[in-house]
Amino acid sequence: MTEAPVLIGVWKQLVGQEPAARTLSSASAAATRIIENQPVAPGAMTHAWLVTGPPGSGRSTAARVFAAALQCSTGTGCGECPGCRTVLAGTHADVKLVVPEGLSISVAEMRSLVQAAARRPTNGKWQVVIIEDADRLTEGASNALLKAVEEPPDRTVFLLCAPSDHPDDVSVTIRSRCRLVTLRTPPPEAIAQVLVERDGVDPERARWAASVSSGHVGRARRLATDEAARQRRTTVLRIPLGLRRPSDVFTCADQLISAAEADAGEESKVRDEAERSELRTAMGGDGIGKGVAGAKRAAEAAVKQLEKRQKSRATRTQRDTLDLALVDLAAFYRDVLVTASGAKATLNHPDHAAEIAQAASAWAPDSILRRLEAVLECRDAIDLNVKPRIAVEAMVTTLRQG
Ligand SMILES: [Zn+2]
Repeated sequence: MTEAPVLIGVWKQLVGQEPAARTLSSASAAATRIIENQPVAPGAMTHAWLVTGPPGSGRSTAARVFAAALQCSTGTGCGECPGCRTVLAGTHADVKLVVPEGLSISVAEMRSLVQAAARRPTNGKWQVVIIEDADRLTEGASNALLKAVEEPPDRTVFLLCAPSDHPDDVSVTIRSRCRLVTLRTPPPEAIAQVLVERDGVDPERARWAASVSSGHVGRARRLATDEAARQRRTTVLRIPLGLRRPSDVFTCADQLISAAEADAGEESKVRDEAERSELRTAMGGDGIGKGVAGAKRAAEAAVKQLEKRQKSRATRTQRDTLDLALVDLAAFYRDVLVTASGAKATLNHPDHAAEIAQAASAWAPDSILRRLEAVLECRDAIDLNVKPRIAVEAMVTTLRQG
């Protein structure tokens, strides 16, 4: 049996993930044979998948590309046909995408999704459900999903994505029903290639962004295309050597928190506005409930609910942005540790090699380690819902003292 061709068409987006691309493209080839009533080896196609990988390795891209191949009119994931293009653009009627907006996916959301997934696909191919961050499912949502995954309708495919650093966050029962696809940290050359080919980034900038993003494709893309993101990274990397006076602790903590807030604010503002105006239209415009108390109450409740959802989403964006800054910071101390030990490992921040060398000669190894641990503890604390400002101030205090 010949392998389905990989890294052409939509599969090009999985550069650096050849083994996963091979698994998924053979499955989609089998899926096409199922549609055409041709014989298929048992297990060649599966109804439930779990895509895991380190943050930024492209889990949701892998899921979308697979979904495109399943809906492709040529059955290969050509990238040109309406099936491929609408899936990649997020507008295909038979591909449902769940991105948890708050800190978890609600039971109600999951139930309505499972119901939709049970319908016959409109184009006669597959009904695909992609769940990003399946690790954020509540127990209730998990149970609602489990029933569907245990007895999937004939033409329904579930694609779950979850970070591989917390494999226990997806329940064992769900994992045991899924076929596992593991992504690896993509090499910098592969990331640079994606940035150039997919996003039209200048090759030199693409190489730089890929070299400083620790294998995180989305982060590399952001650094390559967003000046403000480049600024924020510079601010973060100035912290380790910038902590001289005691008052610097508060200035730096403040900078970290406000950078995350600004980032989340920018991202939310546009979306929040659009949603509010949509809701206003749905509720009958400015003439909401004139003289009709019931309608007015309903409209007010709807607005309250929307605002609550927007707030929870903003909190999450803010945490994710802060986490990226902390990852950058941890990577800096790891670089210092590596340099101090004389190991010949690749630096996470090769463009800050001079500062890294300076820190490596100034600090004792155990003090470098304490600083690195402080950053990791701060991440854990925020993960456990400690107020970000409190966790960050405690961290920066240790970063200064060493
Ligand atoms: Zn196609």
